[in-house]
Amino acid sequence: MDFGFTQEQQALIERVTTLATERMAPRAAQYDADFAMPVEDLQDIHREGWLVANLDKKRGGLGFGLYGDDPLSFFLIDEHLAYGNPSTAHCFQVHNNGLMMIDAMASDAQVAKWIEPTIKRGALIPGAGAEPYGVPPTSAKKVSGGYLISGTKHYATNASMAEWLWIGRIASDSHPKPIMVMLPKDTPGLTIDSDAWRPTGMRACVSPWLYLKDCFVPEENLLGQPGQFLDENWMGKINFAFTANYLGSARAMYDWAIGYIRERGGAKDSHRQLRFGELKSLLDAARLVLYTAVRMFKNDPTQAMIAAHEAKWMAKEMLGKMMWSTAEICGSTALFVKHPLERLYRDMHLHMMHGRHDIAAQIVGAAELGEQYDTNRNH
Ligand SMILES: Cc1cc2nc3c(=O)[nH]c(=O)nc-3n(C[C@H](O)[C@H](O)[C@H](O)COP(=O)(O)OP(=O)(O)OC[C@H]3O[C@@H](n4cnc5c(N)ncnc54)[C@H](O)[C@@H]3O)c2cc1C
Repeated sequence: MDFGFTQEQQALIERVTTLATERMAPRAAQYDADFAMPVEDLQDIHREGWLVANLDKKRGGLGFGLYGDDPLSFFLIDEHLAYGNPSTAHCFQVHNNGLMMIDAMASDAQVAKWIEPTIKRGALIPGAGAEPYGVPPTSAKKVSGGYLISGTKHYATNASMAEWLWIGRIASDSHPKPIMVMLPKDTPGLTIDSDAWRPTGMRACVSPWLYLKDCFVPEENLLGQPGQFLDENWMGKINFAFTANYLGSARAMYDWAIGYIRERGGAKDSHRQLRFGELKSLLDAARLVLYTAVRMFKNDPTQAMIAAHEAKWMAKEMLGKMMWSTAEICGSTALFVKHPLERLYRDMHLHMMHGRHDIAAQIVGAAELGEQYDTNRNH
């Protein structure tokens, strides 16, 4: 399938694929077994310069991401890293989504301060917005020179390798809309609990629970304007990269299954041919919808946001079919721990539960019917 990549994008894909298949994929089983961050993968990504993928070129970045000169390249890196290890790709995308937001909202001095540990030491930026069911909402109390912040966040991917943490969705007593802050990791009152991360899959994108108790944040570490996260549809924007991860991971399952069946002499079986034909068609269609949504963003961001929800819904539907059909084609032995398919299954079963599947389709349907929709909708 010709997806219309530029020569530069094609060269980038080849670089990422080499790294993902030769270095990251062979390490993935151990990181999974250890529930450990893929440190060596992230060092490789740092060496390649991809930890500043979504920083403006004028600020020393590569100029990728939705507002960059080449929006698609961020998602192509994400997708092709996921081919080697979906957890590594998730760490990369959360960091670069955070960076994309900081780049769009912060002053030059703030960006320089918050990005320095990344440039010097490969530190990662977490995006801690989600909160566990039943906890009091994270809140900020105005005090002299800043805020005292208390609350609980969960799924804070990258927090264990961060020096600055992005904390969002904070209700404050001094602004009518929620605020966002950047918090240094050694702030008194902050506890980062990495041991809470014991999921079935995606074990290597360690995503701690954060406990904040009267953490002082000076005014200068406030990010953007109150309400800017929802007003500018960032909830919807960060979803593009989840889709890219699903696509790369699905392709890894698909290619592995093709090799397994050829090796076992099953390629001439017409039922298997049919299943692979179905999967290839779904995979290519899902890729095309995401690439198109990203390409639309510059000229028509409103329609692009709807298309992005189509893309995520479509990718998850495709992923479900990929999991069932590769098992049907290959058989149960393919799901033994010695094969990468077993880990990819667990990874994607968890990762596809990143919420909003029905919500994504509802947004698209409401837009089609000419009804009100909200691309930030979370619940
Ligand atoms: C691998 C991974 C990494 C993540 N990383 C981050 C991160 O870095 N930062 C961050 O902030 N969050 C992150 N998330 C967390 C994510 O944003 C969600 O908060 C989390 O997945 C919610 O899990 P839950 O069990 O609390 O689901 P709930 O929020 O309790 O939802 C339960 C189910 O109900 C569905 N649902 C909810 N409301 C509706 C509705 N109105 N209509 C239909 N269905 C509905 C949801 O889609 C979900 O399937 C990550 C999630 C995963 C899986």
